[in-house]
Formats: sequence, structure tokens, C-alpha cells
Amino acid sequence: MAYTFKGGVWPDDHKYTKNVPIEEFSAAAQVSVSLSQHVGIMCKPVVKVGEKVRMGQLIGDVPGGLGCPVHASVSGTVVRIDEVTAQRGGTSYNIVMENDGQNTLADTVQPFGKTLSEATSDEIIAAVRAAGITGMGSAAFPTYAKLAAARGKVDTLIVNCIESEPFACASHRLVLEDPAAIIHGLKIIMAALGIQQAWIAVEGSRKEERAALQPLVGDGGLIQIKKVTSKYPAGSEKQLVYALTKKEIPAGRTPLDVGIVVFNAQTCAAVFEALAKGMPLIRRIVTVDGDCVKNPKNLLVPIGTPISDLIAYCGGLCAEPKKIVCGGPMMGQAQWDPNTPVMKTTAAVLVLSEYFDYDSKLPAVCIRCGRCVRACPMKLMPLKIASAIEAGRVEEAAALGATDCIECGACSYICPGGVPVTQLSVRAKMAVLEQRRNDARHEG
Ligand code: SF4
Ligand code: SF4
Repeated sequence: MAYTFKGGVWPDDHKYTKNVPIEEFSAAAQVSVSLSQHVGIMCKPVVKVGEKVRMGQLIGDVPGGLGCPVHASVSGTVVRIDEVTAQRGGTSYNIVMENDGQNTLADTVQPFGKTLSEATSDEIIAAVRAAGITGMGSAAFPTYAKLAAARGKVDTLIVNCIESEPFACASHRLVLEDPAAIIHGLKIIMAALGIQQAWIAVEGSRKEERAALQPLVGDGGLIQIKKVTSKYPAGSEKQLVYALTKKEIPAGRTPLDVGIVVFNAQTCAAVFEALAKGMPLIRRIVTVDGDCVKNPKNLLVPIGTPISDLIAYCGGLCAEPKKIVCGGPMMGQAQWDPNTPVMKTTAAVLVLSEYFDYDSKLPAVCIRCGRCVRACPMKLMPLKIASAIEAGRVEEAAALGATDCIECGACSYICPGGVPVTQLSVRAKMAVLEQRRNDARHEG
């Protein structure tokens, strides 16, 4: 039996690279490592222009508060520190390094040096922080902070192997090619949290993933593989937790509030790399695909590699591109700069033609078909939220639960009237949150 949730949509999966093995690409002449790749405070550089750096060396850190350090993903020389517009908006800085191609490791890249039975929870969490690991799905929340918040609150870990975005195959290839790294990471996280139960969530249609994982976990033990119905957005945390437990997570709450912590499969593998080898999060698997890419591939690349280098490595373009997206076509961010660097959360780089431009060329019209309501995985009424915000009725949007919107894009995808329902729902959510902040300021 496959677990599921209400709502959702079934976009064509376009998983053309699901059988394409991961290739390493580390030949970028320069890499640009962003100082704000995580939720929290932007890092401050700890290296200077002209300084030689080694692979894995700390180059940026957060002196206090929520944040996550960043490390050199190649060896070479710091040539610039650029002020840039961050991929998620706002100003950020990139440390630009010339790659000497030597991959000389920093002296600090050393294994953890203790077994899990010898290590304390604090020591494991400190090692995860030092390695600069963030959630590698899309949230980019610092992993050490999630572990610290989960300790004592949760009894179950869910490892999320689901990639419900079309095209994305990075986690799929990781599960097939290095399932042991995921399982070892899972066990490290269980030890850090002192918990006894873990579920590995895979899509029901992915028999080969179950075949790769099953021999490593055995049958019916404390670690179990759970099949989840293949539909979008099954990989979203709230939908995944609901599918497996039937527990709903209210707006503003997280899975921790219902005793669950969720980590992405690649995050688990990064935790293993950090403790087993001392290797910080300096590389990740990226699916490079889209109907404009000549030879789509799954690439293991240094963080900071310009996406234009990845596209060139995949044979360049074979059709006129309309947009470049980091992430999937449903929730990814369109990029205006083809040299934008790979971040810790970049699961896919897609170069898409006009064919994937879902924006209607005709005037939008709501025919009140109700499809957006049936598709919404948060059980919202997107058409009502949309018309409330278009009329400036923020309180009505709040009463309709606009802050519950997870920005999944399912409503716009399914809408036959070309109504930008997702954009309007997100606008409503932002307006409600802004109003609440203003109210709190006035009360304070
Ligand atoms: S799916 Fe589109 S047309 Fe149908 S009710 Fe929703 S907004 Fe209106
Ligand atoms: S209203 Fe928000 S959560 Fe619901 S389908 Fe639209 S984007 Fe997804």
C-alpha cells in the first residue's frame, strides 16, 4: 500500500535522466560561493582577496545567531568578493575563487574520530554545524539548528527521498548509487537525537530505489521503507508527514510539533560525509535538463560552479531558451544571470523553451470550475483567496487561511482559465503576514 495525502496534481514527470549515472564535474575555472545560502544571518568572509585557499577550508562564518558556515569548494586563490543580487532576492556577497585544479584538501578535513556510541549529541551537532550543512531540499534551514530544535521533541525521523518536481533526478541517482551514505547519515541523525525509529519515504513507483535500500535496512526493524503515492507535491514536508502519520501541521508550525523530523536524502548523505571524512558540504548532485539542453545529465559539482558551465558541459543548447530555472518547473526560481552559481539547495538546473511557459497568453478568466480547490494540498480555496487579495481584502484572505499556502504551484498548474492563482495566493500570504507584523508593532 502506498501512503498519500489529499489534493495534488500529476504533471508529466520528464525524468529523462533517471537512468543517467552521476558524473563528476569539477573543471570550472572559477567558483563563486555565496555567503547567504541558508535561512538566517549572512556569513562574514574569513578570507581576503589574494589569499590561497584549500578545498574544504572555512571561508565564511556567522559569528552568532542562526546561520551556517561556507567552505571553499575548490583549491586556488580568492580573486574577488562580489556584491550580487541573491537568488532569493536582496543583496548578498559571493567569494570568487580561481580553481587551480589541484583539489588540495584543507588540513581541517579530518574524520570525526569517534564512534556513535562514544560521541555525545552535542558533539555530533557541533560537527554538523562546522560542516556547513543545510537542508538540501529547498528550505536551506541549517541542519545543526534543526537537530538542536528536534532533540527531545521527536520520536521519528523521516528521510525524504521523494523528488516530486518534474525533471529532478538527483536524489533518485543518489539512492541508486550510494544508498549506504543515506543510511549511515540516517543513523548518525538518530544517534544525535537519541531516537529509535526512522522511515525512509520513497515514491511508490520507484521499485529500484526500494531494491537498493532494502538490503541495508532489513525487514520490519526500526528503520522502515514507506511507499508514498507518486504525485506532486509528495516531497513537501507537510504533505509527507500527513501521508505517513495522518497528522496535520497547522500554519506556522513544523513537523517537530507533531513529533517528527524530516531530512532530505542528500542532507543525510552530507551528514555522513561530514562525520566519516570530515568533508564539509562543498559539493552536491544537480540534474541539468530541460528541452533546450543537448545532453541532460546528473552532475556532482562544487558549490559555486556557474550554471553556464554545467550547461556547456552538457553539450550546450539545442533549442531557443525561454528561461533558466534553478529547481523544478513548479517551485524553482527563474534566473536572469546564466552565470549564477550552484547553491547548497540547487537540485536542478533547467533550461526550458516556450513550451514550458505556463503563463497564459490570453486574458485570465476564472470559470469557477473548482479544480484549484481540489488540487490544493493544503485544502485551501485558492480562487477565493485570489479574488480577496485582488480586491485588497487582506482580512478575508487571512480568514481563508492564506498563510497556510506552501507556494507549491499546483493551483496555477491545474487552472484552465490561466488565472495566476499561485502568485495571487502568495501575494495574499505576504500581505497577511505584513499586516500581522504591523499590528504587532503597533501593539508593542
Ligand atoms: S482552477 Fe482556475 S478557473 Fe477553475 S476555479 Fe480555480 S481559478 Fe477559477
Ligand atoms: S493555494 Fe498555495 S498551497 Fe494551495 S495549491 Fe495554490 S500554491 Fe499550493
